[in-house]
Amino acid sequence: MKDIYLHNTLGNKKEVFIPQRNEDVTMYTCGPTVYNFAHIGNLRAYIFADVLRRTIESTGSRVTQIVNITDVGHLTSDSDTGDDKVEKMAKSQGKSASDITSFYTGAFLKDIQELNIEVAAEYPEHFPKATDYIQEQIDFIKELEEKEFTYKTSDGIYFDTSKFRGYGKLGNIDIEKLKEGARVEKNDEKKNPTDFALWKFSQPDEQRLQEWDSPWGTGFPGWHIECSVMSMEKLGNTIDIHTGGIDHIAIHHNNEIAQSESLTGKDFVKYWLHTDFVNVESGKMAKSGNNFITLETLKENGIHPLAYRYWLLTAHYRSPVSFSYEAVKGAQEAFNALLVHVWQHCVKETGTVIEEWIEDTKKFAYNDLDTPKIIAYIHSKLNTDKPENEARTILEIDNILGLGIKQLIKEYGNIPDTIRERAQKREQFRQEKKWAESDAIRDELKKEGYILMDGEPGTGALIYRPLSAHIFTPPKG
Ligand SMILES: [Zn+2]
Ligand SMILES: [Zn+2]
Repeated sequence: MKDIYLHNTLGNKKEVFIPQRNEDVTMYTCGPTVYNFAHIGNLRAYIFADVLRRTIESTGSRVTQIVNITDVGHLTSDSDTGDDKVEKMAKSQGKSASDITSFYTGAFLKDIQELNIEVAAEYPEHFPKATDYIQEQIDFIKELEEKEFTYKTSDGIYFDTSKFRGYGKLGNIDIEKLKEGARVEKNDEKKNPTDFALWKFSQPDEQRLQEWDSPWGTGFPGWHIECSVMSMEKLGNTIDIHTGGIDHIAIHHNNEIAQSESLTGKDFVKYWLHTDFVNVESGKMAKSGNNFITLETLKENGIHPLAYRYWLLTAHYRSPVSFSYEAVKGAQEAFNALLVHVWQHCVKETGTVIEEWIEDTKKFAYNDLDTPKIIAYIHSKLNTDKPENEARTILEIDNILGLGIKQLIKEYGNIPDTIRERAQKREQFRQEKKWAESDAIRDELKKEGYILMDGEPGTGALIYRPLSAHIFTPPKG
């Protein structure tokens, strides 16, 4: 096995990746809070985790990946104050909490299927829900209590961060700044500003949709505890990889580490990997306002989900990207050109894999997932070898990129007979040098989503449906 190098947020450096067991790498991906659609910035984190998984799998290792579904306890402040996001949405729409969470879980699943993310095929086994692990969370908190890491306030059970040495070690975060931020919350009962809720009590004046009995009183789990509990339940006390967006580093992931390592006395996670933001012109993407762009929004604007994936892969996962429709449409054009090349030369399914290309692209992937280099490399190599060999090789490389090329090109040549007949009619006009009539048919077909590629006179044209014509029929698998 060749070595993979990954940037570990813990320690802030690139390290060789050594899993605990090659045959079964464990990976936890911080999942969605299912109270609304995911925006395309959220989705970047899952695409990145998928490329990471595929890269590890390309060495022959197996990866067990877990994505949690947060369906309770995530508060609007992302901290210990404010409303529960799910409760707030359910109440505002006059629906039950499970109506909301099952609807948005379904929407999330559809998004990640359309983005060709492998773990989607493992729903629901690999997507544990916080509300299915309430007892385990209570037990976890009880154990922390026995070990004297907790204390009680009027609104919940809190974790005492002063008792965990090295609190804030992930991302070398500035604890003073974090304390400043926490002070704004003004919870005078906290012993330290960075302390966080493990269990929150239902307040006497509130009618909660989701609440449970506990040894400390009726209430619900805090947001951070679910990830520690489900990670350990599903994957073991120490796992190889935990992924998420960089916005989770400072608080959520440092809290996960503090509570987990206090409980077990062992490392919680060996490698922490984080994806940077997708920015829009007016700043960071958010769930409110005009900056809320979903996969559905992209499709309405003529962008195929897999073209969005392609566009993201032209940047490194640890760099922020600036979203614009022009930029993604440009990427869609480039991706389409690549698809046409593969489709055109894959018809016969001959061709042999060009080993040099595979080796070179793996070298880029194993260097902290340098996908921009892989994509630039492929384009630079096009038309330097036998086209059928190139097509075969690109399909092989796509096992890492996950652009779904194999499925997409199946659709490219899927042309109804009526369209083929009109194309033949046009070919006749061409041979008769009736250019106006021939052009008219070509333009009509284009409008309907079919592109004619002219070959030698008399050989007829190749017909294909470009990526933009496949937007509402995403590939499966
Ligand atoms: Zn996490
Ligand atoms: Zn999490």
